[in-house]
Amino acid sequence: MIITAKFDSTCKSCGRDIAAGEIVRWERGAPATHVDCAEIEAKAEQEKGTPAFHALLSAIEARYDELVRAKLLPSEGSVHDH
Ligand SMILES: [Zn+2]
Repeated sequence: MIITAKFDSTCKSCGRDIAAGEIVRWERGAPATHVDCAEIEAKAEQEKGTPAFHALLSAIEARYDELVRAKLLPSEGSVHDH
C-alpha cells in the first residue's frame, strides 16, 4: 500500500534514502520502496519471461554486439573481468 514514511530508511529497490514524510510503497513485513521503484520492479517482474521481455533483451544484446564490432566497447572477456 501507499503510505507516508514514518521514519528514515533505505529503498530496498534502488538503495537510495527514503526520508520520513516521503510517499512510499510498503507491505507488512517488507521494507519500503519509492513508489516509482515499486512500479518499475513490478513491471519488470510482470514482463519477465514474456515475448516483450525477450525482445527487449535481444535488442540490447544486438546493440551490444554492434558496439563491440565497431570497437566502441571492449570485447566480452574484458567486460566481465572485474
Ligand atoms: Zn527507490
